[in-house]
Amino acid sequence: MCARCKQPMVLANVTVSYLGNRFPYDLLKCPGCGKVHVSEGLATAFVSGSTAAITTVEYEPGLEHDLAAALERLFPRDMRYRHHERWNDDNGRSHVRAAFLKPGLSVPVSKGALMLGTWQQVVLVELDTRPRKREIALQVMGE
Ligand SMILES: [Zn+2]
Repeated sequence: MCARCKQPMVLANVTVSYLGNRFPYDLLKCPGCGKVHVSEGLATAFVSGSTAAITTVEYEPGLEHDLAAALERLFPRDMRYRHHERWNDDNGRSHVRAAFLKPGLSVPVSKGALMLGTWQQVVLVELDTRPRKREIALQVMGE
């Protein structure tokens, strides 16, 4: 909950289409009031769901392609996934990729800014085999 406006710090029903969607939000700002609250502390983002991930990357089309290609080499779509046999599903690779990339991250905050590198953006990576609506929880702790 936001300390100022008392709104939940959640981005609800973020629609994402497929791999490599940029997480479009400043982690420091409350979605309700748009205010930045913390000068020294820690900002956290977490996506609920086991087929999406949050990580950092230099977000540009070349690396968007490279990340997708690397995930395909590491976790190929044409492998045998027991998940498909158990649930008659098609997204075994989505679950495995998400488990490796992780559902969230924390970024230190100093002097009122995220301590990200110049070319380092926080991104939501949609890994499912169809478009999904996502809910992203945001928390900022500190003073
Ligand atoms: Zn607020």
